[in-house]
Amino acid sequence: MSSDTFALLNQFRNADLVKAGIAEIHKITTRPWAIMEICGGQTHAILRSGLDELLPEKIELVHGPGCPVCVTPLKLIDQALAIASQPNVIFTTFGDMMRVPGSNRDLFSIKAAGGQVRIVYSPLDAIRIAQENPDKQVVFFAIGFETTVPVNAMSVIQAKALGLKNYSILVSQVCVPPAMHAILSAPHNRVQGFLAAGHVCSVMGYWQYLPIAEQYKIPIVVTGFEPLDLVEGIRITVKQLEAGSHQVENAYSRVVSKEGNKPAQEMINRVFEPCDRGWRGIGDIPMSGLGLRKEFSDFNAENRFNVSDITTKESEICIAGQILQGIKKPPECPAFGTLCTQDHPLGATMVSSEGACAAYLRYGRARTGTPEKAS
Ligand code: SF4
Repeated sequence: MSSDTFALLNQFRNADLVKAGIAEIHKITTRPWAIMEICGGQTHAILRSGLDELLPEKIELVHGPGCPVCVTPLKLIDQALAIASQPNVIFTTFGDMMRVPGSNRDLFSIKAAGGQVRIVYSPLDAIRIAQENPDKQVVFFAIGFETTVPVNAMSVIQAKALGLKNYSILVSQVCVPPAMHAILSAPHNRVQGFLAAGHVCSVMGYWQYLPIAEQYKIPIVVTGFEPLDLVEGIRITVKQLEAGSHQVENAYSRVVSKEGNKPAQEMINRVFEPCDRGWRGIGDIPMSGLGLRKEFSDFNAENRFNVSDITTKESEICIAGQILQGIKKPPECPAFGTLCTQDHPLGATMVSSEGACAAYLRYGRARTGTPEKAS
């Protein structure tokens, strides 16, 4: 990281400016409000910097489903485990997926038993591995929100251009707007304002959120990841809530534009199309996923390895689904910090670097209880 980048980031970690923003939020808050940060990266940033403990008692931050590892359906995890167990396969994945529990095991246990499971930083690494190992089938576990989809698309385009017959992707890509609809239309919804994830918006823009804000009369503020970004996002949301306003505002304009990254969106649309998708702990959300288009179906690992008929068994204790919808907080889970820890996770939200349970345990939050819905 260059010294210029450090200097820029330090501006957004300035303690005096953060304190001034927090003081302003205290000044303008007169009623209880429940605000959801969608992104798990923002959840960790909030807890790491202690912002949740500096806000007025009346402001409750609830944690959303924006952790791709956490929402990858159990069936997909079990399919990944079945594929990775096969002798002629090199299974490639981001490191976060290694310890996510399937019905009976995880990718680490397959690697420990001699399976070829490799951690990569990009699907383009998996393409290289496929070129170097023409006698093996190389599979990339393509999970993620809109942020990671362009590079997954690029890998498929590249594989096709190279004529690779031994590369495929196991797809579990999800989109934010359908999840917001699902949360806001649920009968138990408590969310009154959203902090939208800045990195997703850097790709997709924020034009998709305008009809959501209008339909549900809810403020949506595009927010970054540094303490000052988060304080500013919360301040703008509270200001709107107190004024009865429901606009989409951009508090991350140094990165995000309304239109987003058009070439990246075109890349996504060339390779993928909307499809129904299951979210772990939440259930099916119509048209919330991005699946391979027909012309790229040769690269679909689910078809190539015939792993559709897998039955799953979810933990009976884990309440991650309720946590991902903002209904409960991690300490309300009876297994939190006892039966379920980062060494022995029972659910994906305890494994992922963006998972809410992992954040609460790592940063020592044990506050329990869910306040009544703010009126
Ligand atoms: S603490 Fe563990 S068991 Fe409980 S909800 Fe979180 S991941 Fe699931």
